[in-house]
Amino acid sequence: MTDLRRQLPSIDAILANPGIASLLAEHPRALVVKAARAAVDAARVNGGAPPVEGWDAAVRAAVARLGVPSLAPVINATGVVLHTNLGRAPLAPAAIAALTRVAQGYSALEYDLGRGTRGSRHAHCRDLLIELTGAADALVVNNAAGAVLLALSALARGGQAIVSRGELVEIGGSFRIPDIMARSGATLVEVGTTNRTHPNDYDRALTADSKVLLKVHRSNFQVTGFTADVAVVELAELAHDRGIACVYDLGSGLLMDLSHWGLTGEPTVPEGVAAGADVVAFSGDKLLGGPQAGILVGSEAAIAACRGDPIARTVRADKLTLAALEATLALYREPEIARKEIPVLRMLTESMDSIRNRAERLGGQLIEGDSEVGGGSFPGAKLRTWLAGFPDERLAERLRANDPPIIARVAGSRVLLDARTIFPEQIDTVIAALTADG
Ligand SMILES: *Cc1c(COP(=O)(O)O)cnc(C)c1O
Repeated sequence: MTDLRRQLPSIDAILANPGIASLLAEHPRALVVKAARAAVDAARVNGGAPPVEGWDAAVRAAVARLGVPSLAPVINATGVVLHTNLGRAPLAPAAIAALTRVAQGYSALEYDLGRGTRGSRHAHCRDLLIELTGAADALVVNNAAGAVLLALSALARGGQAIVSRGELVEIGGSFRIPDIMARSGATLVEVGTTNRTHPNDYDRALTADSKVLLKVHRSNFQVTGFTADVAVVELAELAHDRGIACVYDLGSGLLMDLSHWGLTGEPTVPEGVAAGADVVAFSGDKLLGGPQAGILVGSEAAIAACRGDPIARTVRADKLTLAALEATLALYREPEIARKEIPVLRMLTESMDSIRNRAERLGGQLIEGDSEVGGGSFPGAKLRTWLAGFPDERLAERLRANDPPIIARVAGSRVLLDARTIFPEQIDTVIAALTADG
Protein backbone atom coordinates (compact mmCIF):
# COMPACT_ATOMS: atom_id res chain seq x y z
CA MET A 1 0.00 0.00 0.00
CA THR A 2 1.46 3.33 -1.01
CA ASP A 3 0.88 6.37 1.12
CA LEU A 4 0.16 9.33 -1.14
CA ARG A 5 1.27 11.61 1.69
CA ARG A 6 4.87 10.47 1.13
CA GLN A 7 4.68 11.75 -2.42
CA LEU A 8 3.67 15.31 -1.52
CA PRO A 9 6.04 17.86 -3.10
CA SER A 10 8.49 19.83 -0.96
CA ILE A 11 7.90 23.53 -0.34
CA ASP A 12 10.99 24.31 -2.45
CA ALA A 13 9.60 22.28 -5.34
CA ILE A 14 6.30 24.18 -5.21
CA LEU A 15 8.09 27.53 -5.05
CA ALA A 16 10.08 26.54 -8.15
CA ASN A 17 6.86 26.21 -10.22
CA PRO A 18 6.77 28.82 -12.99
CA GLY A 19 3.24 29.81 -11.90
CA ILE A 20 4.52 30.75 -8.45
CA ALA A 21 7.14 33.15 -9.82
CA SER A 22 4.54 35.83 -10.53
CA LEU A 23 3.12 35.38 -7.03
CA LEU A 24 6.59 35.92 -5.60
CA ALA A 25 6.93 39.10 -7.63
CA GLU A 26 3.74 40.53 -6.12
CA HIS A 27 3.88 39.29 -2.52
CA PRO A 28 6.43 38.96 0.27
CA ARG A 29 8.29 35.67 0.02
CA ALA A 30 7.38 34.82 3.63
CA LEU A 31 3.68 35.03 2.76
CA VAL A 32 4.04 32.80 -0.32
CA VAL A 33 6.02 30.23 1.69
CA LYS A 34 3.33 30.24 4.36
CA ALA A 35 0.69 29.77 1.68
CA ALA A 36 2.61 26.88 0.10
CA ARG A 37 2.82 25.21 3.53
CA ALA A 38 -0.88 25.71 4.03
CA ALA A 39 -1.60 24.11 0.63
CA VAL A 40 0.61 21.10 1.41
CA ASP A 41 -0.93 20.74 4.89
CA ALA A 42 -4.41 20.79 3.36
CA ALA A 43 -3.40 18.07 0.88
CA ARG A 44 -1.94 15.99 3.73
CA VAL A 45 -5.18 16.24 5.68
CA ASN A 46 -6.87 15.10 2.46
CA GLY A 47 -4.94 11.83 2.53
CA GLY A 48 -2.17 13.17 0.33
CA ALA A 49 -4.26 13.82 -2.78
CA PRO A 50 -2.91 16.87 -4.66
CA PRO A 51 -5.35 19.80 -4.92
CA VAL A 52 -7.81 19.29 -7.78
CA GLU A 53 -7.29 22.87 -8.94
CA GLY A 54 -3.50 22.29 -9.12
CA TRP A 55 -0.71 23.49 -6.84
CA ASP A 56 -0.36 26.96 -8.35
CA ALA A 57 -4.04 27.77 -7.91
CA ALA A 58 -4.09 26.32 -4.39
CA VAL A 59 -1.12 28.44 -3.34
CA ARG A 60 -2.60 31.52 -5.03
CA ALA A 61 -5.87 31.01 -3.11
CA ALA A 62 -3.97 30.58 0.15
CA VAL A 63 -2.03 33.80 -0.50
CA ALA A 64 -5.32 35.64 -1.04
CA ARG A 65 -6.74 34.18 2.15
CA LEU A 66 -3.65 34.73 4.34
CA GLY A 67 -2.85 38.16 2.93
CA VAL A 68 -5.98 39.94 4.16
CA PRO A 69 -5.80 41.64 7.54
CA SER A 70 -7.80 39.78 10.17
CA LEU A 71 -9.23 43.01 11.60
CA ALA A 72 -11.32 44.01 8.61
CA PRO A 73 -14.25 46.41 8.35
CA VAL A 74 -17.70 44.80 8.14
CA ILE A 75 -21.20 46.06 7.44
CA ASN A 76 -23.46 45.68 10.46
CA ALA A 77 -26.93 44.61 9.35
CA THR A 78 -27.86 43.17 12.76
CA GLY A 79 -29.57 46.30 14.06
CA VAL A 80 -27.53 46.13 17.29
CA VAL A 81 -26.19 49.68 17.38
CA LEU A 82 -23.44 49.13 19.98
CA HIS A 83 -22.34 45.66 18.88
CA THR A 84 -19.34 44.77 21.04
CA ASN A 85 -18.27 41.97 18.66
CA LEU A 86 -18.36 44.42 15.75
CA GLY A 87 -16.30 47.11 17.45
CA ARG A 88 -19.00 49.09 19.30
CA ALA A 89 -19.13 52.74 18.22
CA PRO A 90 -18.23 53.80 14.66
CA LEU A 91 -16.52 57.20 14.87
CA ALA A 92 -17.76 60.60 13.73
CA PRO A 93 -15.96 62.11 10.71
CA ALA A 94 -14.39 64.77 12.96
CA ALA A 95 -12.96 62.06 15.23
CA ILE A 96 -11.56 60.10 12.28
CA ALA A 97 -9.93 63.28 10.94
CA ALA A 98 -8.43 64.09 14.34
CA LEU A 99 -6.89 60.68 14.88
CA THR A 100 -5.57 60.59 11.32
CA ARG A 101 -3.88 63.98 11.82
CA VAL A 102 -2.22 62.84 15.02
CA ALA A 103 -1.25 59.43 13.57
CA GLN A 104 0.64 61.02 10.67
CA GLY A 105 3.40 62.60 12.71
CA TYR A 106 4.48 63.87 16.07
CA SER A 107 1.99 65.55 18.39
CA ALA A 108 1.99 67.61 21.57
CA LEU A 109 0.94 64.54 23.54
CA GLU A 110 2.99 65.34 26.63
CA TYR A 111 4.36 68.69 25.65
CA ASP A 112 3.32 72.14 26.87
CA LEU A 113 3.43 74.28 23.73
CA GLY A 114 3.09 77.54 25.72
CA ARG A 115 6.11 76.93 27.93
CA GLY A 116 8.10 74.69 25.68
CA THR A 117 8.45 72.11 28.44
CA ARG A 118 7.13 68.70 29.30
CA GLY A 119 3.35 68.63 29.60
CA SER A 120 0.82 65.99 30.64
CA ARG A 121 -1.15 63.61 28.47
CA HIS A 122 -3.91 63.95 31.08
CA ALA A 123 -4.48 67.55 30.00
CA HIS A 124 -6.18 66.49 26.76
CA CYS A 125 -9.96 66.12 26.94
CA ARG A 126 -9.91 67.32 30.56
CA ASP A 127 -11.40 70.79 30.02
CA LEU A 128 -14.03 69.49 27.61
CA LEU A 129 -15.10 66.79 30.07
CA ILE A 130 -15.35 69.36 32.86
CA GLU A 131 -17.38 71.65 30.61
CA LEU A 132 -19.75 68.92 29.42
CA THR A 133 -20.31 67.06 32.71
CA GLY A 134 -20.09 69.75 35.38
CA ALA A 135 -17.39 67.82 37.24
CA ALA A 136 -14.40 69.54 38.86
CA ASP A 137 -11.81 67.30 37.20
CA ALA A 138 -11.48 64.44 34.72
CA LEU A 139 -9.11 61.66 33.67
CA VAL A 140 -9.12 59.48 30.54
CA VAL A 141 -7.75 55.92 30.57
CA ASN A 142 -7.85 52.92 28.24
CA ASN A 143 -11.33 51.55 28.94
CA ALA A 144 -14.06 51.65 31.58
CA ALA A 145 -13.10 48.37 33.23
CA GLY A 146 -9.63 49.86 33.76
CA ALA A 147 -11.19 53.09 35.01
CA VAL A 148 -13.19 51.24 37.69
CA LEU A 149 -10.14 49.22 38.74
CA LEU A 150 -8.15 52.44 38.99
CA ALA A 151 -10.79 54.32 41.00
CA LEU A 152 -11.14 51.46 43.49
CA SER A 153 -7.38 51.10 43.82
CA ALA A 154 -6.93 54.83 44.36
CA LEU A 155 -9.79 55.25 46.81
CA ALA A 156 -10.38 51.90 48.54
CA ARG A 157 -7.13 49.90 48.48
CA GLY A 158 -6.44 48.36 51.88
CA GLY A 159 -9.94 49.17 53.08
CA GLN A 160 -13.50 48.15 52.41
CA ALA A 161 -15.73 49.03 49.49
CA ILE A 162 -19.40 48.48 50.16
CA VAL A 163 -21.72 47.44 47.33
CA SER A 164 -25.27 46.16 47.02
CA ARG A 165 -25.80 42.46 46.22
CA GLY A 166 -28.14 43.64 43.49
CA GLU A 167 -25.24 45.36 41.73
CA LEU A 168 -22.57 42.62 41.72
CA VAL A 169 -22.92 42.47 37.98
CA GLU A 170 -21.06 40.83 35.13
CA ILE A 171 -20.57 42.91 32.00
CA GLY A 172 -19.61 41.08 28.78
CA GLY A 173 -16.02 39.96 28.30
CA SER A 174 -15.70 38.66 31.88
CA PHE A 175 -15.76 41.98 33.68
CA ARG A 176 -17.17 41.01 37.07
CA ILE A 177 -17.47 43.60 39.78
CA PRO A 178 -16.35 41.25 42.63
CA ASP A 179 -13.22 40.21 40.67
CA ILE A 180 -12.30 43.79 39.81
CA MET A 181 -12.74 44.79 43.44
CA ALA A 182 -10.48 41.98 44.61
CA ARG A 183 -7.76 42.99 42.13
CA SER A 184 -7.97 46.62 43.21
CA GLY A 185 -6.89 45.69 46.72
CA ALA A 186 -10.22 46.65 48.25
CA THR A 187 -12.20 44.24 50.39
CA LEU A 188 -15.68 43.70 49.05
CA VAL A 189 -18.47 44.09 51.55
CA GLU A 190 -21.84 42.96 50.17
CA VAL A 191 -25.03 44.43 51.56
CA GLY A 192 -28.76 43.99 50.94
CA THR A 193 -30.30 41.26 48.81
CA THR A 194 -30.51 40.60 45.07
CA ASN A 195 -33.75 42.53 44.71
CA ARG A 196 -33.75 44.99 47.60
CA THR A 197 -31.13 47.16 49.27
CA HIS A 198 -31.93 50.00 51.69
CA PRO A 199 -29.90 52.93 53.06
CA ASN A 200 -29.62 51.29 56.48
CA ASP A 201 -28.02 48.21 54.87
CA TYR A 202 -25.05 50.41 53.94
CA ASP A 203 -25.25 52.23 57.26
CA ARG A 204 -24.97 49.02 59.30
CA ALA A 205 -22.02 47.77 57.21
CA LEU A 206 -19.92 50.91 57.74
CA THR A 207 -16.82 50.43 59.91
CA ALA A 208 -13.60 52.32 60.52
CA ASP A 209 -12.13 50.39 57.55
CA SER A 210 -14.82 51.52 55.09
CA LYS A 211 -13.41 53.66 52.31
CA VAL A 212 -15.88 53.64 49.44
CA LEU A 213 -19.58 53.21 48.80
CA LEU A 214 -19.82 51.79 45.29
CA LYS A 215 -22.83 52.20 43.02
CA VAL A 216 -22.88 50.07 39.85
CA HIS A 217 -25.30 50.77 37.05
CA ARG A 218 -27.09 47.60 35.93
CA SER A 219 -26.17 48.12 32.35
CA ASN A 220 -27.34 44.96 30.70
CA PHE A 221 -30.32 43.72 32.68
CA GLN A 222 -33.37 44.92 34.56
CA VAL A 223 -34.71 44.02 37.96
CA THR A 224 -38.48 44.26 38.15
CA GLY A 225 -41.13 43.39 40.71
CA PHE A 226 -40.51 43.78 44.45
CA THR A 227 -37.36 45.87 44.27
CA ALA A 228 -35.60 48.73 46.01
CA ASP A 229 -32.22 50.30 45.68
CA VAL A 230 -30.47 53.37 47.00
CA ALA A 231 -30.10 56.28 44.60
CA VAL A 232 -26.59 57.65 43.99
CA VAL A 233 -27.57 60.97 45.52
CA GLU A 234 -28.44 59.23 48.80
CA LEU A 235 -25.37 57.03 48.66
CA ALA A 236 -23.11 60.04 48.09
CA GLU A 237 -24.69 61.83 51.06
CA LEU A 238 -24.22 58.80 53.28
CA ALA A 239 -20.58 58.48 52.19
CA HIS A 240 -19.83 62.14 52.79
CA ASP A 241 -21.48 62.08 56.25
CA ARG A 242 -18.90 59.43 57.16
CA GLY A 243 -16.03 61.18 55.43
CA ILE A 244 -15.58 58.47 52.75
CA ALA A 245 -15.99 58.48 48.96
CA CYS A 246 -18.80 57.43 46.64
CA VAL A 247 -17.77 55.78 43.35
CA TYR A 248 -20.35 55.40 40.59
CA ASP A 249 -19.73 52.90 37.78
CA LEU A 250 -22.18 54.31 35.28
CA GLY A 251 -21.17 52.25 32.27
CA SER A 252 -22.54 53.86 29.19
CA GLY A 253 -21.39 57.46 29.14
CA LEU A 254 -24.64 58.96 27.93
CA LEU A 255 -23.98 62.70 27.72
CA MET A 256 -27.35 63.88 26.48
CA ASP A 257 -30.95 63.11 27.27
CA LEU A 258 -32.49 60.87 24.59
CA SER A 259 -35.96 60.56 26.15
CA HIS A 260 -37.42 62.63 23.30
CA TRP A 261 -36.58 59.63 21.07
CA GLY A 262 -38.19 57.15 23.44
CA LEU A 263 -34.94 56.15 25.13
CA THR A 264 -35.40 56.49 28.88
CA GLY A 265 -34.02 54.97 32.05
CA GLU A 266 -30.31 55.32 31.33
CA PRO A 267 -28.64 57.86 33.65
CA THR A 268 -26.63 60.65 32.01
CA VAL A 269 -23.12 61.53 33.14
CA PRO A 270 -24.08 65.08 34.23
CA GLU A 271 -26.83 63.52 36.40
CA GLY A 272 -24.29 61.23 38.03
CA VAL A 273 -21.98 64.16 38.72
CA ALA A 274 -24.82 66.34 40.04
CA ALA A 275 -25.86 63.51 42.37
CA GLY A 276 -22.57 64.09 44.21
CA ALA A 277 -20.55 60.98 43.40
CA ASP A 278 -16.83 61.64 43.98
CA VAL A 279 -15.99 59.64 40.87
CA VAL A 280 -18.19 58.66 37.95
CA ALA A 281 -16.68 56.02 35.61
CA PHE A 282 -17.93 55.35 32.06
CA SER A 283 -16.96 54.10 28.60
CA GLY A 284 -15.94 56.22 25.63
CA ASP A 285 -17.27 53.81 23.01
CA LYS A 286 -20.77 53.09 24.24
CA LEU A 287 -23.50 55.73 24.15
CA LEU A 288 -20.91 58.51 24.07
CA GLY A 289 -20.09 57.30 20.56
CA GLY A 290 -16.32 57.81 20.66
CA PRO A 291 -13.22 55.60 20.69
CA GLN A 292 -12.59 52.86 23.27
CA ALA A 293 -11.72 54.71 26.47
CA GLY A 294 -12.49 54.75 30.17
CA ILE A 295 -13.40 58.13 31.57
CA LEU A 296 -13.34 59.22 35.19
CA VAL A 297 -14.94 62.52 36.19
CA GLY A 298 -15.41 63.82 39.71
CA SER A 299 -14.00 65.87 42.56
CA GLU A 300 -10.50 67.34 42.46
CA ALA A 301 -9.32 65.22 45.38
CA ALA A 302 -10.69 61.94 44.01
CA ILE A 303 -9.41 62.47 40.45
CA ALA A 304 -6.00 63.57 41.80
CA ALA A 305 -5.84 60.32 43.78
CA CYS A 306 -6.66 58.36 40.61
CA ARG A 307 -4.05 60.24 38.59
CA GLY A 308 -1.41 59.47 41.21
CA ASP A 309 -2.17 55.75 41.48
CA PRO A 310 0.32 53.36 39.78
CA ILE A 311 -2.55 51.70 37.91
CA ALA A 312 -3.13 54.97 36.03
CA ARG A 313 0.12 54.33 34.17
CA THR A 314 -0.82 50.75 33.30
CA VAL A 315 -4.17 51.72 31.80
CA ARG A 316 -3.20 55.01 30.17
CA ALA A 317 -4.92 56.10 26.96
CA ASP A 318 -2.94 56.37 23.73
CA LYS A 319 -2.68 59.45 21.53
CA LEU A 320 -5.05 58.18 18.82
CA THR A 321 -7.72 57.59 21.44
CA LEU A 322 -7.22 61.01 22.99
CA ALA A 323 -7.40 62.72 19.59
CA ALA A 324 -10.60 60.91 18.59
CA LEU A 325 -12.18 61.40 22.00
CA GLU A 326 -11.41 65.12 22.09
CA ALA A 327 -12.98 65.63 18.65
CA THR A 328 -16.04 63.57 19.63
CA LEU A 329 -16.52 65.50 22.86
CA ALA A 330 -16.23 68.84 21.05
CA LEU A 331 -19.30 67.89 18.98
CA TYR A 332 -21.38 67.77 22.17
CA ARG A 333 -21.05 71.53 22.61
CA GLU A 334 -23.92 71.70 20.11
CA PRO A 335 -26.22 68.78 21.01
CA GLU A 336 -28.02 68.87 17.66
CA ILE A 337 -24.66 68.61 15.86
CA ALA A 338 -23.68 65.73 18.15
CA ARG A 339 -26.90 63.91 17.29
CA LYS A 340 -26.33 64.26 13.56
CA GLU A 341 -22.57 63.72 13.43
CA ILE A 342 -21.99 60.96 15.98
CA PRO A 343 -23.05 57.73 14.24
CA VAL A 344 -24.32 56.03 17.43
CA LEU A 345 -26.62 58.96 18.26
CA ARG A 346 -27.71 59.33 14.64
CA MET A 347 -28.67 55.65 14.41
CA LEU A 348 -30.46 55.67 17.78
CA THR A 349 -32.55 58.72 16.89
CA GLU A 350 -33.23 58.02 13.20
CA SER A 351 -36.90 58.19 12.17
CA MET A 352 -38.82 55.08 11.10
CA ASP A 353 -39.50 56.63 7.69
CA SER A 354 -35.87 57.21 6.99
CA ILE A 355 -34.97 53.65 8.03
CA ARG A 356 -37.83 52.33 5.91
CA ASN A 357 -36.45 54.04 2.81
CA ARG A 358 -33.23 52.09 3.12
CA ALA A 359 -34.97 48.80 4.00
CA GLU A 360 -37.17 49.09 0.90
CA ARG A 361 -34.16 49.52 -1.34
CA LEU A 362 -32.77 46.20 -0.11
CA GLY A 363 -35.67 44.30 -1.67
CA GLY A 364 -36.94 41.21 0.12
CA GLN A 365 -39.92 41.25 2.41
CA LEU A 366 -40.41 44.48 4.35
CA ILE A 367 -40.92 43.61 8.02
CA GLU A 368 -41.47 45.85 11.03
CA GLY A 369 -39.37 44.81 14.03
CA ASP A 370 -37.04 45.99 16.75
CA SER A 371 -33.41 47.09 16.81
CA GLU A 372 -31.30 46.85 19.94
CA VAL A 373 -29.15 49.53 21.53
CA GLY A 374 -26.61 46.89 22.66
CA GLY A 375 -23.34 47.41 24.52
CA GLY A 376 -25.15 47.03 27.82
CA SER A 377 -27.23 50.18 27.46
CA PHE A 378 -30.97 50.78 27.66
CA PRO A 379 -31.51 47.03 28.27
CA GLY A 380 -35.28 47.16 28.00
CA ALA A 381 -35.51 49.70 25.18
CA LYS A 382 -37.65 48.92 22.14
CA LEU A 383 -36.40 50.66 19.04
CA ARG A 384 -38.92 50.08 16.26
CA THR A 385 -37.25 49.47 12.93
CA TRP A 386 -37.69 48.15 9.38
CA LEU A 387 -36.06 44.94 8.26
CA ALA A 388 -35.62 43.31 4.88
CA GLY A 389 -36.40 39.59 5.17
CA PHE A 390 -35.16 36.81 2.88
CA PRO A 391 -36.37 33.18 3.10
CA ASP A 392 -32.91 31.77 2.44
CA GLU A 393 -30.95 30.14 5.27
CA ARG A 394 -27.71 30.09 3.28
CA LEU A 395 -27.80 33.83 2.63
CA ALA A 396 -26.24 34.78 5.99
CA GLU A 397 -23.16 32.70 5.20
CA ARG A 398 -22.90 34.15 1.69
CA LEU A 399 -23.14 37.69 3.04
CA ARG A 400 -20.40 36.95 5.57
CA ALA A 401 -18.17 35.83 2.70
CA ASN A 402 -18.77 39.10 0.86
CA ASP A 403 -16.04 41.73 0.59
CA PRO A 404 -16.68 43.60 2.85
CA PRO A 405 -18.44 41.00 5.01
CA ILE A 406 -22.07 41.78 5.83
CA ILE A 407 -23.33 40.51 9.20
CA ALA A 408 -27.06 39.79 9.20
CA ARG A 409 -29.59 38.49 11.69
CA VAL A 410 -30.88 34.92 11.40
CA ALA A 411 -34.40 34.18 12.63
CA GLY A 412 -35.39 30.56 12.04
CA SER A 413 -35.16 29.92 8.30
CA ARG A 414 -35.18 33.63 7.50
CA VAL A 415 -32.32 36.06 7.18
CA LEU A 416 -33.15 39.60 8.33
CA LEU A 417 -31.25 42.77 7.49
CA ASP A 418 -31.94 45.71 9.80
CA ALA A 419 -31.58 48.94 7.82
CA ARG A 420 -30.96 51.00 10.97
CA THR A 421 -27.31 50.01 11.30
CA ILE A 422 -26.58 49.89 7.54
CA PHE A 423 -25.14 53.31 6.69
CA PRO A 424 -26.71 55.11 3.70
CA GLU A 425 -23.41 54.89 1.81
CA GLN A 426 -23.32 51.09 2.36
CA ILE A 427 -26.73 50.33 0.86
CA ASP A 428 -25.47 49.89 -2.72
CA THR A 429 -22.79 47.45 -1.53
CA VAL A 430 -25.42 45.41 0.32
CA ILE A 431 -27.76 45.42 -2.70
CA ALA A 432 -24.91 44.21 -4.92
CA ALA A 433 -24.14 41.38 -2.47
CA LEU A 434 -27.82 40.39 -2.30
CA THR A 435 -28.22 40.28 -6.07
CA ALA A 436 -24.93 38.47 -6.78
CA ASP A 437 -25.41 34.88 -7.92
CA GLY A 438 -25.55 32.67 -4.87
C1 LIG B 1 -19.54 48.42 29.86
C2 LIG B 1 -19.38 48.58 31.30
C3 LIG B 1 -18.12 48.47 31.90
C4 LIG B 1 -16.89 48.12 31.09
O1 LIG B 1 -16.62 49.08 30.13
P1 LIG B 1 -15.48 48.84 29.03
O2 LIG B 1 -15.35 50.16 28.35
O3 LIG B 1 -16.00 47.77 28.14
O4 LIG B 1 -14.24 48.43 29.72
C5 LIG B 1 -18.02 48.64 33.25
N1 LIG B 1 -19.11 48.91 34.01
C6 LIG B 1 -20.34 49.04 33.48
C7 LIG B 1 -21.49 49.34 34.38
C8 LIG B 1 -20.52 48.89 32.10
O5 LIG B 1 -21.74 49.01 31.56
